[in-house]
Amino acid sequence: MEYEPVIGLEVHAQMLTKSKIFCSCSTAFGADPNTHTCPVCTGLPGSLPVLNRTVVEYTIRAALATHCEIAPYSLFARKNYFYPDLPKGYQISQYELPLSSSGFVDVQVDKDKKRIAIIRIHMEEDAGKLMHDLSSERGAHSYVDFNRTGVPLIEIVSAPEIRSPEEAAAYLRKLRAILMFLDICDGNMEEGSFRCDANISLRPKGQKTLGVKTELKNMNSFRNVQRALDYEIRRQTALLDQGEGIIQETRLWDAARGVTSSMRSKEEAHDYRYFPDPDLVPIVVDLEWVKALKASLPELPNTKKERFIREYEIPEYDAEVLTSSKSLANYYEACLQIYAKPKIVSNWIMSELLRELKRDEREIEECPVPAKNLAEMLKLIDDGLISGRIAKSVFEEMYQSGKKADEIVKEKGWIQVTDTSAIERTVEEVLGKHPKEVEEYKKGKDKLFGFFVGQVMKATQGKANPQLVNDLLKKKL
Ligand SMILES: [Zn+2]
Repeated sequence: MEYEPVIGLEVHAQMLTKSKIFCSCSTAFGADPNTHTCPVCTGLPGSLPVLNRTVVEYTIRAALATHCEIAPYSLFARKNYFYPDLPKGYQISQYELPLSSSGFVDVQVDKDKKRIAIIRIHMEEDAGKLMHDLSSERGAHSYVDFNRTGVPLIEIVSAPEIRSPEEAAAYLRKLRAILMFLDICDGNMEEGSFRCDANISLRPKGQKTLGVKTELKNMNSFRNVQRALDYEIRRQTALLDQGEGIIQETRLWDAARGVTSSMRSKEEAHDYRYFPDPDLVPIVVDLEWVKALKASLPELPNTKKERFIREYEIPEYDAEVLTSSKSLANYYEACLQIYAKPKIVSNWIMSELLRELKRDEREIEECPVPAKNLAEMLKLIDDGLISGRIAKSVFEEMYQSGKKADEIVKEKGWIQVTDTSAIERTVEEVLGKHPKEVEEYKKGKDKLFGFFVGQVMKATQGKANPQLVNDLLKKKL
């Protein structure tokens, strides 16, 4: 039987506000445990939450950027459950009346475009963090850090319209890029400021009703989301093929072992006894404010992509890659300011630059080659000072040392040989060393021309101007 995966994603994104959602404690990451806490975020009796206006503003920005509607009236609700990292015994979230709903994100999967609906975006507070110490002399025990308690999150819930792990990854990449373009989330998956849970079920192809779903947690990179979904598709397929049912449950992804395992049976919404939080007033959003926020939205990834295609006449694939992050797009445009050949710059960024960054697991923000330096190196090629082949070595050296191209070229003696008489001498030497090949070439074995070019380039350590080598070889032969 062939099955169709039905995938829905819930993304939790941490808002880049300075203070928490209901108190003035700092949201900074990495402080000593329990130093960013107060009676409100540790849930002491008698303390009262006060909503951070910037969290509402950022949520509206996210909602507008994903074509959602903004509710003029929405409510906070208490989601009740017990866990040691949740001192109040409930999480303040939004339930029946979220701040925004009914949007979409357009994504590109290989050559296909797909629109994925967003059901809702709501605000909520984060819980604290438990650290488990299994190796202490006192025996296994756990610590709790409340610094993260009350850090503002938005939850973005997609419709179950995603049909493959690749689509899931494309959706997440685009969503993350949008939030980062808006400067409302730093997108750091390792530190947990952009995290994702996935619901997945299978159904026979062509069937309309949904199968039983599992929820996957603990995937802290795009690659792990894809791997976990791939694994879950295989697992569920095997069970269905054997005629066994799928159990509705929450499963944890184990990246090291490459498997998901059961964590707990899936709770239903009614288990949480949601009710409107009596400590917080309803949120009434002024439409003028929404209008002003809409007018102030920056250029978003897909708009930028369209502009790159139009303005720079580069292929859609290039434009998609270059607009995958704001910093990369800025880097590209900074290069073009100095060296205005869009496709050449795009080629260098997409092949050489991104390859080096990927190898070092660095982001473009940490790139040791400033845009200006790359552009100036490309100019050296155009000016005939270095060959395209040498340029790749120059670039690697620039990346390693952080030096400028002209310094490296001087230091290494990599300046292209454009002196005709010098090249002519080398050409004569090469032909003199290979009389047999010259004979065959003259008898019509044209293919040997490439061999002679290669020999001359080798003898000049790649520094000879290729055009001159070609011309002179033809003349001599
Ligand atoms: Zn606090």
